Amino acid sequence: MAKVVIDHEDCEGADCAECVDVCPMEILVVDGDKIKVQNAEECNECEVCVDVCPEDCIEIN
Ligand code: SF4
Ligand code: SF4
Repeated sequence: MAKVVIDHEDCEGADCAECVDVCPMEILVVDGDKIKVQNAEECNECEVCVDVCPEDCIEIN
């Protein structure tokens, strides 16, 4: 099962949300001013979120 990890130190949160917009499985969601990971077991490891993140702060393990 994939583990989706966001480094909240570097993440721009709701002001960015590019990963939220591109994730086909709706695993990354806006929660207040932060990004929350939900239903990580459904992640297909496409890494589109990693590719669009301007801060390079998402890791798929
Ligand atoms: S790897 Fe793909 S499915 Fe998984 S969180 Fe990122 S965009 Fe979503
Ligand atoms: S794309 Fe990167 S910086 Fe932007 S909200 Fe997602 S994790 Fe944070």
